[in-house]
Amino acid sequence: MTELSDLSSVALPKAPRLSKSKFLSGLQCHKRLYLEVHHPALATKPDAATQAMFDMGTEVGELARARFPDGVLVTAGYRQTEAALAQTAELVQDLTVPAIFEAAFMHNGVLIRADILERVMTAEEQPCGWRLIEVKSSTKVKDVHLEDLAVQSEVIIGAGLTLISVCLMHINTGYLYRNGEIDLTELFAIQDRSEAVALRRAAVPERLAAMTHILLQTLPPAIEPDRHCHIPYDCPFWEHCTKDKPERWIHYLPGSKQVVDQLTQQGVTTIDEIPAGTKLSPVQRRVKENVEWMSEKLGPVLQSVQYPVHHLDFETIMLAVPRFSETRPYQALPVQWSNHIEQASGELRHEEFLHKDVSDPRKVLAEALLESLGDRGSICVYSPYERSIVEQLAAALPSLKSALSRIVSRLWDLFPIVRDHYYHPAFGGSYSIKSVLPAIVPSLAYDDLAIKEGGHAASQYYRMVFVETDWVERATIEEALLRYCARDTLAMVELRRALKEKSKMKGATG
Ligand code: SF4
Repeated sequence: MTELSDLSSVALPKAPRLSKSKFLSGLQCHKRLYLEVHHPALATKPDAATQAMFDMGTEVGELARARFPDGVLVTAGYRQTEAALAQTAELVQDLTVPAIFEAAFMHNGVLIRADILERVMTAEEQPCGWRLIEVKSSTKVKDVHLEDLAVQSEVIIGAGLTLISVCLMHINTGYLYRNGEIDLTELFAIQDRSEAVALRRAAVPERLAAMTHILLQTLPPAIEPDRHCHIPYDCPFWEHCTKDKPERWIHYLPGSKQVVDQLTQQGVTTIDEIPAGTKLSPVQRRVKENVEWMSEKLGPVLQSVQYPVHHLDFETIMLAVPRFSETRPYQALPVQWSNHIEQASGELRHEEFLHKDVSDPRKVLAEALLESLGDRGSICVYSPYERSIVEQLAAALPSLKSALSRIVSRLWDLFPIVRDHYYHPAFGGSYSIKSVLPAIVPSLAYDDLAIKEGGHAASQYYRMVFVETDWVERATIEEALLRYCARDTLAMVELRRALKEKSKMKGATG
């Protein structure tokens, strides 16, 4: 890995060609742009869940093209710039082509590929210009999308085309899929954002000039990491830029970032330097105090469970393009659950379910769940998410509605109990089970698992069921999914036990 400190005597770099993604990186942070261009190896690789989101974006992009029948794809790849430009020029001239996908244009050293460029015809069937359409797998228009369209418009107009309108095509979460073909006019919403984009386009040349200037320097700009590193996206150089920050860096204070901004402006660099009397939230106060804390009520609250105590966790997937009747884009669909059942004697039993084929998982999953949960005992969960999933299942499955509604009344959420009654310095201000478990039960973390978090589980599930054909690979993913979900529920069992023990000891000593 190249260290930037080695570079002070290096010759001036050559200004490279920019792309729209580099332009957007530069808008977030000039240092990010510089590092992406000159030192890409310093970036942290995207994790599996982020990669899965990129893949889903590709799937959505391909489906969006089907809304423009007879459109033609520029087949030259992203590294074949000259071929892509030549193919695009030919298709632009060919009046029989109603739309071009992945059209390539270059202007003033900026190369862009446009998702969809649709030829606009007059009432007399004469071509009069183009409609630029950017496809996003998101559910609404964001500022960064308008910036994206602004740089594309600048390049396309600079290359000599007339743009009649500029639009964003995104997923419409209001679309309710019913069996049969996907209705693409319903799945996608197209919004004309020509005016908002024109305002931003005016600023593009100046911004590009500033970015080119930055890229010609021998060292990256001295920009300190802060909130801008996560807006609109998490910067892949975060680890690099923060590697020398102290363990209790002020930026790690959880909760309101306004407080962090104010403290930073006052010159506060670590959590320990926060002046007494600063208005902090209860969680921020705990992080500042940095000591183990337990409320008097922890013991009694933990006693409120009814045995047998079930410990339930779901894994879900959210498909941009719905596959099951009566579902909407990005609706959370449960595909797996784990249940650890603890008797009053301490005896523990484990039951689990994983839906392994492409059919609708909901009914079979709910039936197996009802059987496992029976009709006695509390159902321990660690977030309101499980409640929302059970309620959703009840709404979707009329024949199981009353049984599922009874489940809801037995749910017992451990999350607010930990949040309101216990703190450990190792939480670092986070009450997520991934932070809480290793702090309270160090022998039981997630490090030994192939799947360590929910986003990765969802992407691996998608791969196992919808993509992977190799049965060995499928079996490997299946095993990893089962182990991950089981760990989440075992975590709750051990957390309850450890907290009970702690509250007993406090009772004995206090
Ligand atoms: S981590 Fe922050 S400061 Fe560093 S390059 Fe990324 S956005 Fe810029």
